[in-house]
Amino acid sequence: MAQRMLKFVRLERATPAKRDALERRRDFHEIFGTFAVERAAEQASRCSQCGIPFCQIHCPLHNNIPDWLMLTAAGRLREAYEMAAATNNMPEVCGRICPQDRLCEGNCVIEKGFGTVTIGAVENYIVETAFANGWVQAPKPVHERPESIGIVGAGPAGLAAAEQLRLLGYQVHVYDCYDRTGGLLIYGIPNFKLEKSVVLRRAALLGAGGIAFHQGCAVGRDVSLGALRKRHAALLVATGVYRARGLMVPGVGLDNVVPAMTYLTASNRKGLGDAVPAFDDGRLNAAAKHVVVVGGGDTAMDCVRTAVRQGAKSVKCLYRRDRANMPGSMREVQHAEEEGVEFVWLTVPEAILGEGTVRAVRVQRMRLGTPDASGRQTPQLVPGAGFTLDADLVILALGFDPEDMAATFADTSLALTDWGTLKVDRRTLMTSEPGIFAAGDIVRGASLVVWAIRDGRDAAAAMHAYITSKAAAGKRAA
Ligand code: FAD
Ligand code: SF4
Ligand code: SF4
Repeated sequence: MAQRMLKFVRLERATPAKRDALERRRDFHEIFGTFAVERAAEQASRCSQCGIPFCQIHCPLHNNIPDWLMLTAAGRLREAYEMAAATNNMPEVCGRICPQDRLCEGNCVIEKGFGTVTIGAVENYIVETAFANGWVQAPKPVHERPESIGIVGAGPAGLAAAEQLRLLGYQVHVYDCYDRTGGLLIYGIPNFKLEKSVVLRRAALLGAGGIAFHQGCAVGRDVSLGALRKRHAALLVATGVYRARGLMVPGVGLDNVVPAMTYLTASNRKGLGDAVPAFDDGRLNAAAKHVVVVGGGDTAMDCVRTAVRQGAKSVKCLYRRDRANMPGSMREVQHAEEEGVEFVWLTVPEAILGEGTVRAVRVQRMRLGTPDASGRQTPQLVPGAGFTLDADLVILALGFDPEDMAATFADTSLALTDWGTLKVDRRTLMTSEPGIFAAGDIVRGASLVVWAIRDGRDAAAAMHAYITSKAAAGKRAA
């Protein structure tokens, strides 16, 4: 039944049902269900249809949120889907894993006192309804174009660009060193946030739309970037950032001290049914272990929650600042705490202890000092306030830097920023090499899926402009 809008005063904010923490700890399935029809319409009807919608302004894709909420409340779901899909290549992914508390929902004007509109869950509901009804179609161009485009990296930035370019009629080839499509969506982010079937479903649609995927192809090893540049009218580099930041403390070289991505990839591969010897022999498996995770971002949250599900004896998260200064989403911290993770705030590892394998972590207490230039309080050591924690597995989740580009892209001379990311012209997203564009984490540094999608879309538009203007110049010269 169609709902009237502006119901936020008398209708409370609600999310889809969250599974009980004890049940969640036992499997890797997503923790939220999807809304039932009436519930989605009701929640959408809480929106006050702002003249200046701050939710939309703070969504990196500028999704037309008020309109698709209104259409959902009116039961016009096919139109709501068309509108959601017009600005987002993976609304089913963003609806699940965007940190909405920092983006659209965190900026909803009815936040104060009443609770924001549940935008992400409604977005997810719209798209899942569209999939269930067969409304989501493979990209189908109106006209085919003869030019081919090469995309390096099948993460969200590469996939969003691939779809946009295919819709424009280009012959699109995506090269990726992994054996599956999706980048961090497939091997980084765990199932309990994003089921792999959701990612594979989207990848299959892109393949059905004529995008050619060359999996298991590492650029720099199996083919050079220069060779690809000669093969295609334009190239997009969307290779993400994977070099784990290290920890400079004694004992860091012991067995069972592992980088977060190694640990998460093993768990995701296991879930996908792959043979993972290092998981089966216990090296990358937290079962029956005391686990210590170092770091306070989203990757650390994924590690602690994975360890819980693998049956760890205890899971502790060390973070050098306090709860209020966590870089990770507060929502994720809450889920982790519900599932039994213990946060040890204001601590850093001083040494990892053991002979051959880890036995314990010696921890130093910190306190927050005066704010630095960015306004954040700097953590300072509290002398003589150390203690020791039992540990059989230590997972380092301290962030990521770009790989050594000189090795990967040896036969080109792509300019880099001071942070080692690819330097692009902010307007055209073109690198220092004509016809080679870049998007996603490889440009921004470790960021979010929604920003990768945004960059991929912008890069596709810029590549189209580059190719068509070159073709027009060629015609004028002829
Ligand atoms: P990626 O997703 O990293 O994809 C890059 C692709 O390039 C990969 O498939 C890789 O195999 C390929 N590649 C790399 N080098 C080469 C090469 N030389 N040749 C061929 N292929 C190559 N964001 C959110 O919004 N919400 C979350 O909840 C969230 N959780 C996260 C959890 C974890 C554990 C991590 C690590 C990140 C998380 N993020 C999250 C961030 C998000 O996943 C990234 O910002 C996003 O995936 C970046 O997209 P991308 O396309 O730029 O790169
Ligand atoms: Fe919110 Fe992300 Fe959807 Fe934008 S894409 S509306 S930020 S959930
Ligand atoms: Fe609706 Fe909130 Fe967006 Fe306003 S800010 S249009 S109330 S969702």
